[in-house]
Amino acid sequence: MKALAFHEHGGLDKLGYQDVPDPAIGPGDVLVRVRACALNHLDLFVREGLPGFKLPLPFWTGCDIAGEIAQAGAAASGVAVGDRVAVNPNLHCGRCEYCTKGEQSLCVSYGILGEHVQGGLAEYVRVAADKVLALPTHVSYEDAAAFILVNMTAWRMLVTQARLRAGEDLLILGVGGGVSSTAVQIGKLCGARVWVTSSSDDKLARAKALGADECINHAQEDWARVVWEKTGKRGVDVVLENVGAATWKSSLRALAKGGRLVTCGATSGPIGETDIRVVFWKQISIIGSTMSSNAEFDAVMRELFRGRLRAIIDTVMPLAEGVEAQRRLAEGKQFGKIVLNP
Ligand SMILES: [Zn+2]
Repeated sequence: MKALAFHEHGGLDKLGYQDVPDPAIGPGDVLVRVRACALNHLDLFVREGLPGFKLPLPFWTGCDIAGEIAQAGAAASGVAVGDRVAVNPNLHCGRCEYCTKGEQSLCVSYGILGEHVQGGLAEYVRVAADKVLALPTHVSYEDAAAFILVNMTAWRMLVTQARLRAGEDLLILGVGGGVSSTAVQIGKLCGARVWVTSSSDDKLARAKALGADECINHAQEDWARVVWEKTGKRGVDVVLENVGAATWKSSLRALAKGGRLVTCGATSGPIGETDIRVVFWKQISIIGSTMSSNAEFDAVMRELFRGRLRAIIDTVMPLAEGVEAQRRLAEGKQFGKIVLNP
């Protein structure tokens, strides 16, 4: 089969659309014919190579997968060849103390399909049969693929971890990214007033179309000062962070008393300054979040199927042009997801 694969870690020059061995499935697996696979920054990080992270080569990534079942293992129940499906990318043991509590993203051997095992930037992918979710006919493969990873992440961050409530103020930093942009619509679904920042007026306009109430261009204005003044020196209830070092200190200061900072990334650097006096005096919570549980995956996919949340797609391209697609993602020009069709 064809895949967007690399034989050694490194830059875009290591990546190519090429022939790789077909995946073989076990009795509890299904083989999914990939119809759409969306890109994530994870695809770039894995290709470039993560310290201490050994992968079988050639390797191909791809965590956001929708397609149809091409083959089902003898022990795969509840699925049939031809079913349209979305793939839950969680890989977990099912036996550890966290899995037994339903907290799969805390599993002691947690992994992600397409990061720890070969993924969906290919014509076919092997998936455990209990990790496919039937896709209603009114939801396109492209919408499903674009929706999965960023929404399971943003849903856990805002609904489960930060417990965002109606009437609260939510601040989302850097609204061009996949998690940040979809967090706007999840924030509105929760009934919050949503504040967003970006250095691009175009991205702010896109966020406004998704329901953002207050848009701040941080290249032109000091966003922390604007938030402070416009909230009457109160601050916001929840900050959604994935910028890291560059914004961490200001994010903590932007919180109201009793506020929550929830983070899923540190793209500008992993070390941030925390004034501990601010933490205890304002009684704020700093909360980490990664991916989601299986139950959260099911819950947020239902919101897509019901039309209460939608996929945010930047571009759809053929998998054969995957190198160009990864370049576009690396340059940060996109708003929403880049989707590839094998
Ligand atoms: Zn486990």
